[in-house]
Amino acid sequence: MPHPEPLSPSYVVARSVFREAAASAGATMRSWTHPEVGPDGEELTVDVAELGPADATDVVVVVSGTHGVEGYCGSALQRHWLSHHAADRPTHVRVALVHAFNPYGFAWVRRVNEDNVDLNRNFVDWTSPDGPPSNPDYAEIAALLVPADWSGAEQERTTAELMTRAMEVGLERFQEIVSGGQYDHPTGIFHGGTGPTWSHRWLREWASGHLAAAERLTIIDLHTGLGPWGHGELISHAAPGDPQYERANARWTGVRSFLAGDSVSAQLSGDWLGVVHELAPGAEATPIAIEYGTVDTIQVLQALRADAWLHAHGDPTGPDAPAVRAQVRAAFADDDPAWIATCWPRFHEVISASLSA
Ligand SMILES: [Zn+2]
Repeated sequence: MPHPEPLSPSYVVARSVFREAAASAGATMRSWTHPEVGPDGEELTVDVAELGPADATDVVVVVSGTHGVEGYCGSALQRHWLSHHAADRPTHVRVALVHAFNPYGFAWVRRVNEDNVDLNRNFVDWTSPDGPPSNPDYAEIAALLVPADWSGAEQERTTAELMTRAMEVGLERFQEIVSGGQYDHPTGIFHGGTGPTWSHRWLREWASGHLAAAERLTIIDLHTGLGPWGHGELISHAAPGDPQYERANARWTGVRSFLAGDSVSAQLSGDWLGVVHELAPGAEATPIAIEYGTVDTIQVLQALRADAWLHAHGDPTGPDAPAVRAQVRAAFADDDPAWIATCWPRFHEVISASLSA
């Protein structure tokens, strides 16, 4: 079997080759247009390719680009599966491939969306009278994480201060403070927003129509940026003992729970896999995230800080932008063909076990 094709150089190319592969596989395609455009004025869409009967009770959903730039990997995996494996699937199962859940971040090479919001911190209960979760320790380091000045000297100074802080509280707690989600610093990193975002609202609308018939639902959400190079860690939102976690653990090997503290991910608030019971209330749902490692955590953090600075204090269309975008891309997608080839077997194993479950 051939290796996956190299990662697409841009959102436009990724979208186009995904749609071609979906058409060749005989999938039905639908696109939803995003209100914003990409860096070259290109149209942004969420594209969904569906195979199998519309009224199927067994449904598998594969999502790329929840975190924009992480979609270069997810898109390549979706495309490769469509081109080489879709024909062998059990025909009673419906497979929905959601391409670029956050198309703005995908096109602009950002992890966040058009509002600087991390989609996986945005699915908190916005109707709660207490408001979104608070993360008071983030406030203390907010100005260090995203300083107004991103000169070399300021990067050095703020990074050193952050490292000191990390040593004081411990690396695990530091990761939780930084990446667990925050709702008070809209130009910061891991910001969860001030209400449901465009992609959030789109998902609820799409799910109400397309997941209504599902009795057994698998969701595979594709991520990058944490863990060893090319390794795909399976992360469950549910804790050990929860039926959702136990189903996942029976089907796949090595499932981690970020609630149990053994995952590469910190415990976080507002991830969308946590609301699957609302998206498909009638279904027995088995959601899982695959997190593929790229570079080390410090390089990832520096890329996110540079990106947040560019969009808060710099000019995303100015001369600093290409270098920052290249830094972000390198942190979340490795263009070495060996990387995507290393990522592929884990995805293939996960989707195959889901289709035959
Ligand atoms: Zn992610």
